Amino acid sequence: MVEDEIRRVTDRLSKERRSANMRAVKDRDTGPEMIVRRLAHRMGYRFRLHRADLPGKPDLVFPARRAVIFVHGCFWHGHHCKRGAAPVTNTAFWAPKLAKNAARDAVQRARLRRDGWRSLVVWECQIKDERKLASRLRRFLD
Ligand SMILES: [Zn+2]
Repeated sequence: MVEDEIRRVTDRLSKERRSANMRAVKDRDTGPEMIVRRLAHRMGYRFRLHRADLPGKPDLVFPARRAVIFVHGCFWHGHHCKRGAAPVTNTAFWAPKLAKNAARDAVQRARLRRDGWRSLVVWECQIKDERKLASRLRRFLD
């Protein structure tokens, strides 16, 4: 029956959307961003998260310092490092996508600058060395 088929497809789609949502939540609350958040917090800085009214919805927002931090995945945001290298297969698919992400990042940072916000990008590959990261945060925030 057509109805059965429709229901099956709808069920499958909503299940897929649910797990995509869960993945998105997990991405937001684990990994590189959490490391930066915990460190900044431990260093005594207070900040807001993902302020939707700012260009690019920055990961950490320090309102009093008029400063924001983005924590970027090297691959998705096109960092020029080993992790950030675009896949060699399916280049026609990935290259425009990744270029678009990088272009959007640049536009958002320009908008922030125009509005008087300083921004810092912490790349996923730069968080392993905690002391280095801490001194970078201090240089940027103090
Ligand atoms: Zn990187």
